[in-house]
Amino acid sequence: MSSKSEPSFRQSVDLMFNRAVRLMDLSPGLEEKIRVCNATYTVRFGVRLRGDIKTFTGYRSVHSEHMEPVKGGIRFADTVNQDEVEALASLMTYKCALVEAPFGGSKGGLCLNPRDYDEHELELITRRFAYELIKRDLINPSQNVPAPDMGTGEREMAWIADQYARMNTTDINARACVTGKPLNAGGIAGRVEATGRGVQYALREFFREPADVAKAGLSGKLDGKRVIVQGLGNVGYHAVKFLSEEDGSIITGIIERDGALVSETGLDVEAVRQWIAQHGGVAGFPGAEYVADGAKVLENACDILIPAALEGVIHKENAANIQAPLIIEAANGPITFGADEILREKGTVIIPDLYANAGGVTVSYFEWVKNLSHIRFGRMQRRQEEARNEMLVQELENLSAAMGNQWTLTPSFKQQFLRGAGELELVRSGLDDTMRTAFQSMRDIWHNRSDVPDLRTAGYLVSIGKVASSYKAKGL
Ligand code: NAD
Repeated sequence: MSSKSEPSFRQSVDLMFNRAVRLMDLSPGLEEKIRVCNATYTVRFGVRLRGDIKTFTGYRSVHSEHMEPVKGGIRFADTVNQDEVEALASLMTYKCALVEAPFGGSKGGLCLNPRDYDEHELELITRRFAYELIKRDLINPSQNVPAPDMGTGEREMAWIADQYARMNTTDINARACVTGKPLNAGGIAGRVEATGRGVQYALREFFREPADVAKAGLSGKLDGKRVIVQGLGNVGYHAVKFLSEEDGSIITGIIERDGALVSETGLDVEAVRQWIAQHGGVAGFPGAEYVADGAKVLENACDILIPAALEGVIHKENAANIQAPLIIEAANGPITFGADEILREKGTVIIPDLYANAGGVTVSYFEWVKNLSHIRFGRMQRRQEEARNEMLVQELENLSAAMGNQWTLTPSFKQQFLRGAGELELVRSGLDDTMRTAFQSMRDIWHNRSDVPDLRTAGYLVSIGKVASSYKAKGL
């Protein structure tokens, strides 16, 4: 973790903001209005557990209301604190602006270690926390819409949605009060994988431009690239699963809480995931080297480093030792401001958090729209599209027969072409489009402005510009 001599997470985000905003022509007043966190609500509540009352502390921070609802995940971890929640809320503002998700930035956190409680206890705690936020409109389909983050997932989101529905029995849009729900509770296909999938799409877009790849001292495509990931949770697992299964990347390192696994020939992501589920950690996994000091493996040679666990893991003390020429920040804030400066000097290319992990909020946006429209994506068009494709194939086959069957359509082409897009295909298509478009907006600035040496500054410039226009349009 970052050392005491470094700025806090929130200060680190603000410093990155300041570095970018210096290159813009905004009034100091507007600059400050965008940077500061509007409000942070702290709640302490009691839950009766194991025969006694236990008090918990939770936060919901709203960074910017230039668009509403505001949006951002809820984190369950014993390290949660106000500074962290505010930093994450501000990142949400910049992230939503960059990927054009029409939300302001928010974030929540509950200070507890979820592994200390059983499922029933966690439900009581989550529902009580949700109750406290709902009654202050800090969870509300039109004002503040949470989502999963570290330590929470579909299960917690379903409890929150149900709690909201119980307290707002006549709200027809109740399901839109939170995203990341299970499919049977108003969720959307592809939300669980979305952030990891977005990391994959971001890397694919990066590797489409040979000049960018060359800037990282790399060449070719994702095929054969050696990847190290930190955190095999929701984001990290899906990212490396897709990169290894679909793009031919080789996962040479997996860093988890209890240590790391290293294998130059590549780790089987699915097998490691199952091992962790059964044994609680990576230690003992057969066929790979185990390194007890997991964080040290961040410094191993590889092509792509994917920090996908915590903030501040690449800091002033280890930044100079990082060998990866390309880092994609799947986690929020994994590189401190000080480390970012060191890595920039070294020429390391960093695909920044405000872009790299925006796949989650993008698909959350789709889920929110689905909840408000009360209809599954693709339900109206799918069979009509299939019928039209069927007509076309039939016509081509008739033509072929009339010409003596000189050519035929391959069965695999026919199968793929005839299938109309369902919700999952549409969600992936929308996510891919979002990740490509947002990368291109950063790339334009990165390539064309000599005073912008890195993608992070480019990303901030795009998003601060959008937030500023929004404030200006409001007459602020
Ligand atoms: P998660 O709880 O599903 O997974 C986190 C993983 O990191 C776990 O496997 C955990 O064991 C591991 N981990 C914890 N401490 C570690 C340590 N010291 N060293 C190595 N591994 C450690 O969380 P997640 O949802 O995957 O979130 C990870 C990061 O991605 C966070 O920064 C979060 O803010 C960010 N993020 C998540 C989403 C989302 O949709 N879930 C969206 C955007 C950003």
